[in-house]
Amino acid sequence: MQIVSYPHPTLRHKSLPVKRVNAELRELVSNMFDVMYEARGVGLAANQVDLPIRLFVVNLEAKAGEGEEFVFINPVISRPKGLEEKEEGCLSLPDLYGPVKRPKQIRVNAYGIDGQEIQADLSGLFARVVQHELDHLDGVLFVDRMSETNKLEIFDALDEFETEFASQRDAGGVPGDKEIAQRRVVWEQKYC
Ligand code: ZN
Repeated sequence: MQIVSYPHPTLRHKSLPVKRVNAELRELVSNMFDVMYEARGVGLAANQVDLPIRLFVVNLEAKAGEGEEFVFINPVISRPKGLEEKEEGCLSLPDLYGPVKRPKQIRVNAYGIDGQEIQADLSGLFARVVQHELDHLDGVLFVDRMSETNKLEIFDALDEFETEFASQRDAGGVPGDKEIAQRRVVWEQKYC
């Protein structure tokens, strides 16, 4: 399992709801935490590891054995309140940061990995991470939410990511769009 980088097409794919959880999916989720800790992230959406299904994991401490691990399956956000601008980054856009305005407070409803219903009113970093990860499931990246002025400042950086991705592809390190799409269908048939 590997984190895919912008502009990998699965990052732009709208993930489908999860309809079943089995031992394999629990194992995949456990691997997602490992991959996230290795990259020192606080959140990771399934499509960031090329799994086109509606779930993401969060641990605000970004370290194994510390903090609390959360799995959000089929998450829905409601009751947004306030607005706050903070710097964000993303494991699929390493070393790139920029200011993003989001509601300060939200309610999230989801299912946990054991099928339990989750409802939580979140604020601060937790609210921001959940909104950032939920965006991933809809194919939205934090850079899409930056102001036009701030976007100008990261234009070159995005261009570099695109060049790097193209050269990885040329070297055979990344499959073509068609093959990636076919893999997604296999996962969707299994879990959605
Ligand atoms: Zn991200």
